[in-house]
Amino acid sequence: NNGERLQKVIAQSGVTSRRKAEQMILDGKVKVNGETVQEMGVKVTANDEIVVDGVPLEKETPVYFLLYKPRGVISSVKDDKGRKVVTDYFEAVEQRIFPIGRLDYDTSGVLLLTNDGDFANLLMHPRHEIDKVYIAKVRGIPNKKELALLQKGIRSDKDVLKAVQVKLLSTDHQKKTSIIELTLHEGKNRQVRRMLEELGYPVMKLKRERYDFIGLEGLNAGEYRSLTPKEVNQLR
Ligand code: URA
Repeated sequence: NNGERLQKVIAQSGVTSRRKAEQMILDGKVKVNGETVQEMGVKVTANDEIVVDGVPLEKETPVYFLLYKPRGVISSVKDDKGRKVVTDYFEAVEQRIFPIGRLDYDTSGVLLLTNDGDFANLLMHPRHEIDKVYIAKVRGIPNKKELALLQKGIRSDKDVLKAVQVKLLSTDHQKKTSIIELTLHEGKNRQVRRMLEELGYPVMKLKRERYDFIGLEGLNAGEYRSLTPKEVNQLR
């Protein structure tokens, strides 16, 4: 998914130029995870074992970050329309990191990034059932029955979308808006927005407050920190 081209990775490791790396691939001198790769454009990640002319490339140090993603940023490593992407905040980081899952362009909050593909796959696996806690500001004031529907499951296109917990945090009867906390285990495309929209309460603002036990304490929008080794182990 988030890999980079083999010849680029070889060149970046400093063992040879990109041109020569391409020639070595064609000559059958490069192995990825024990298999000779002779086609161009194969993508590799930090987890792949790359051997060039019998010499293993040194693996990148695995790194793990928490970004307080601001609104108006794409959860990707590049954007073909030139918009700001989350990895733009990490220019000081030399490892090739990517986001674990996505937040919408207009959603802010907790986003984890890493270069460790195994870790990312583990966390994104549905069986892992990680609590993802969102705070949504919506137009309108839902009643108890409607809020209960969010936990029963809301039909949207071909999906049935569910929250595992829903709390009405506050209401503003003058402005006719509400603040709702939703805890999800799944992460379907635009899930919170679609669920609330289907109910008739369009989302005006959306923030991910928490990913498992990882919250935004001490960070402002656009700031990041490393996860501690203890946090990484607890997430695993
Ligand atoms: N649900 C959404 O609708 N958007 C997000 O960014 C995350 C969850």
